[in-house]
Amino acid sequence: MSAPETIRSDVASVARTRFTVALGDITKLPVDAIVNAANSSLLGGGGVDGAIHRAAGPDLLAECRSLNGCRTGQAKITMGYRLPARHVIHTVGPVWNGGDHDEEELLAGCYRNSLSLARERALKTIAFPAISTGIYRFPAEPAAGIAIRTTLAESKDGAFEEIIFCCFGDDMAALYDRLLPQMLSGA
Ligand code: ADP
Repeated sequence: MSAPETIRSDVASVARTRFTVALGDITKLPVDAIVNAANSSLLGGGGVDGAIHRAAGPDLLAECRSLNGCRTGQAKITMGYRLPARHVIHTVGPVWNGGDHDEEELLAGCYRNSLSLARERALKTIAFPAISTGIYRFPAEPAAGIAIRTTLAESKDGAFEEIIFCCFGDDMAALYDRLLPQMLSGA
């Protein structure tokens, strides 16, 4: 990725929620919560998980140790510590295993359960990475479709002000820029 800073392109609004595609590092976003694509131990890993723990500092790991892990498709919440985000919602995406192991439903669960925690805490601005599309190998286009469809369904009650899809690379951002207007106009 060339751009070191996160930039934003506003895409569309549904009800009271603005859906935004961002390009860059999710750890830079000053939102109520960023979502972490964690592994089931919640004790850190590679990819976005490693970046979030590095940026948040050791207090994040200390709080994560008290959570006793997290099942695939579920989510748990912590503080954001040194991040500009107030909270981190840790969710565990499915490992892509051909598509007939409930991967789609489990991925939808990540988005649904993350937003359910955000709603409980009255958090209004939430940024998601493209869960499962890195080390866990979920194909990008169906993963983006699930991300948009599920967050759209969950925000119909107007609970959220902004949902940001934070893309770590031009190809992913172009995919969301293409799918979002299509899917929101059909909403
Ligand atoms: P998973 O194990 O769920 O696949 P990864 O962290 O490997 O998790 O990848 C998930 C997505 O997060 C990928 O699209 C990857 O490019 C992206 N990603 C990696 N680092 C960052 C970051 N700092 N900010 C936002 N997205 C990131």
